[in-house]
Amino acid sequence: MGGSGLRLNKYSVGTGDRFAHQAKAQLQACVLALNAGVEVIPVWNKSNREHNIIGSEPSSVRAAADAAVRALNWTLPYFLDADHITIETVGRFLASCDFYTIDVADFIGQEAAQNDIDQFVRRRANLAGRIELPGIAEPFEITQNDLRQTAQKFLAAIKKAGQVYRTILAAKGEVNFIPEVSMDETDRAQSSLELLIILAAIADEGIPIQTIAPKFSGRFNKGVDYVGDLPQFHREFVLDVASIQYAVTHFGLPSNLKLSVHSGSDKFSIYPAIHSTMKQFNVGVHLKTAGTTWLEELIGLAEPGGDGLALAKEIYSEAFSHREELCAPYATVIDINPARLPSPAEVNAWTSDQYTSALRHVPGNKAYNSSLRQLLHVGFKVAAKMGPRYLSLLESNEAVIARNVTENLYNRHIAPVFLGLNS
Ligand SMILES: [Zn+2]
Repeated sequence: MGGSGLRLNKYSVGTGDRFAHQAKAQLQACVLALNAGVEVIPVWNKSNREHNIIGSEPSSVRAAADAAVRALNWTLPYFLDADHITIETVGRFLASCDFYTIDVADFIGQEAAQNDIDQFVRRRANLAGRIELPGIAEPFEITQNDLRQTAQKFLAAIKKAGQVYRTILAAKGEVNFIPEVSMDETDRAQSSLELLIILAAIADEGIPIQTIAPKFSGRFNKGVDYVGDLPQFHREFVLDVASIQYAVTHFGLPSNLKLSVHSGSDKFSIYPAIHSTMKQFNVGVHLKTAGTTWLEELIGLAEPGGDGLALAKEIYSEAFSHREELCAPYATVIDINPARLPSPAEVNAWTSDQYTSALRHVPGNKAYNSSLRQLLHVGFKVAAKMGPRYLSLLESNEAVIARNVTENLYNRHIAPVFLGLNS
């Protein structure tokens, strides 16, 4: 499975660029990585929901990425990710994208046809028993019941992924795109044992995935640090990687199959565990970030003061007064403490330094306010509504914004995850 076509490199970073103005500054972070001796491939991701909120089309992401690549003479691969697409939304992305995150979370828990479940359990009967994972002392003990229960929970979702995959295949041809399956936007984390069984079912479905995005345990809130049990995350991450290695060897999935870490921006406390696991197994990851760039736009607007700072304050004020409707779609991936949100009047009196220190995610900085940051993270709709007023200030403050975007992506994300450097 997975022949001579597009192949995702070992290390890759998903970057979101909501207003299609920062592709060059983002790519510059990959250039810095390359100068430091590590190839990190950029993948520009934008979901259907983001396109709908901004009022943009996937072709605009393509145009921005291509222009950035030309401007910086980037000669390594780069990809465009149709992020979290389903059978209903995939059509819009077929012309512009070459990476597809097939989201099947809504079908997890829906029962597959009994016949499909029976067939799966029969076909994979040899998984029952002791499974020795590479590099792991304790073997998995898989029972017939584990196979059946996992199929009951996930097979319908995997069949759905197959349907979406075949739709893309028919439009683009096998060698022209990279498929990912994502299961992160669901209530319960998948165990590594479930992941192994899910990978068997994905292989049976004939989807040559190169990345898979499970839901990990702990909280992956938007734009802020990981909340959870760090040693447990590390153990589970190691087992997930080992399960993937097993799946590559035994199920015939592509040899570059790797984990995709969604909502991966700002998860500073787990980056050392991710980095050391990659070293331990000599594998890569796809680190997907999105809204972190939009927040750097706000920081870059606020930093010089003047009109930019005034607009950044206005965006906070609007986001504050519409916080319920802005937060509702993201309720499961944010944790805002309303008592920690400053009033718009208070923010309006802030200096540039106060605004940027509250928003910029520098762990240990006492002025940093994670509630304000999460509210602004989901507040991009406010800027989208401002339209040209927002965009023209992005353009007149390009240099300072670009510096913040590059620094954030390189120093706080790429360097710790892929180079093992602490920021
Ligand atoms: Zn996701």
